[in-house]
Amino acid sequence: MNKNSSNTMALAPNTSNKRETVCIFGTGDFGRALGHKMIQSGYPVVYGSRSTQISNLIPKDAEVLGHTEAAQKAAIIIIAIQRQHYNFLTPLAEVLRGKVLVDISNNLKLNQYPESNAEYLAQLLPGSKVVKAFNTVSAWALQSGTLDASRQVFVCGDDVEAKQMVMNIVRALGLTPLDKGSLLAAQEIENYPLQLFPMWRFPIFLSLGLTAFFFFYCVALDIIYTYIYENKNVSFFIAITIPNRVCPVMALILLALVYLPGIFAAIIQLYRGTKYRRFPDWLDKWMLCRKQLGLIALAFASLHVVFTLVTPMRAFASWRAGKGIISQALNNKTEPLNHTNAWLSDSYLALGILGYFLFVLLGITSLPSVSNNVNWREFRFVQSKLGYLALIFCTAHTLVYGGKWFLSPSAYKWYLPNIYILSLIVPCAVLVVKFVLIFPCVDKPLTQIRQGWERNPKYSK
Ligand code: NAP
Repeated sequence: MNKNSSNTMALAPNTSNKRETVCIFGTGDFGRALGHKMIQSGYPVVYGSRSTQISNLIPKDAEVLGHTEAAQKAAIIIIAIQRQHYNFLTPLAEVLRGKVLVDISNNLKLNQYPESNAEYLAQLLPGSKVVKAFNTVSAWALQSGTLDASRQVFVCGDDVEAKQMVMNIVRALGLTPLDKGSLLAAQEIENYPLQLFPMWRFPIFLSLGLTAFFFFYCVALDIIYTYIYENKNVSFFIAITIPNRVCPVMALILLALVYLPGIFAAIIQLYRGTKYRRFPDWLDKWMLCRKQLGLIALAFASLHVVFTLVTPMRAFASWRAGKGIISQALNNKTEPLNHTNAWLSDSYLALGILGYFLFVLLGITSLPSVSNNVNWREFRFVQSKLGYLALIFCTAHTLVYGGKWFLSPSAYKWYLPNIYILSLIVPCAVLVVKFVLIFPCVDKPLTQIRQGWERNPKYSK
């Protein structure tokens, strides 16, 4: 039986004490960290270095030789050297012939070179079998043992056997190899560590833009307007009052934006009468970042909760409450409880609490540790059904908050609507169209289309 068989290694990665020697070219940070981990996993390690002097930094039990001698001792050689130094390998072509070379290198910029580093290495040494691996693991994580978040190791290469050998090592180190195919995938793998929150970029920029817009909108209507027309300085609103207006507005709009692309997708599918045509790029990208939009919305909703809870501690709040009491005392009359207002404020708070509870539930189920433990139907139930319910509660919370002020002229300073009125546009539109989409006469053809039915099939039977 082949002792490198992936199944054997997968089932018993640490049971065999006898492992093949692995050679590492380069005694830099990564070479040392990987060598250390390999020795711990039972691999004899030999370093190929420009200097054969043993230093304290080199893992104990590792041998340090010149490149040629080290390469002769192993079938797998890990090239822990920056790409710009690969030229020194050309004179070693003969000794490296037939060996598996593992390219672990990264670049400083996305698409820095016309070809990937691994393909470049394969061009320099056509007689060797190049495999790309380990570049997404950091030397620090290897050394400190904090690999939990990055257990996945992307592996690609043209030689299947060579790739298997490398994947076996990956498993033996307690990591999970992910086969990405041929060496053509190397460019993509090399770009991974250079990406900066790719899925978060659009949601973050959108949130920043909208937050800035609503913040200055509120500053104009609440502070500047009050100063000009009422000659009152309420600039301290900037600290809590305005953020506590902007946060719920952002939470509601972003939550609606999580469901809006699904509405667009349904309309496009109904219009085209097929699901077999790609959505436009902008819609594809939007759909892919719905989770991020939802999590940012949850962050805004949580801030709104905290800002609301601290309201009674504010000097402005106690001053206003005191003013009300004194005015009643001066007039020697107690204001009767306004039951309509009591109902409105209690319903508004109850809807907010329920909306926030569902919001948190959505956030929790989007965590990989939770979503991995629910099946597809359960996940859809929470994210779609309960998600819409959260949107309904949060929209109702805002509608009840606006309540009787919607038609009051004070809600339209400078003829501009208050921001809670603006915040209702997208969620109300989403809910109205969703309501239409669940009518049987619309839902039935849509379900059929999603099951593969086509109005005008391209390939008729
Ligand atoms: P490094 O600390 O700079 O070490 C590179 C090693 O390359 C040196 O220690 C040296 O080893 C050798 N070297 C330098 N110049 C050379 C030359 N002209 N000719 C031959 N060998 C030369 O770099 P590193 O951080 O270990 O990174 C090594 C590779 O791993 C890079 O391609 C990097 O992109 C990749 N990587 C690093 C990390 C990380 O966390 N550091 C993570 C993923 C991937 P000798 O003195 O022994 O010859």
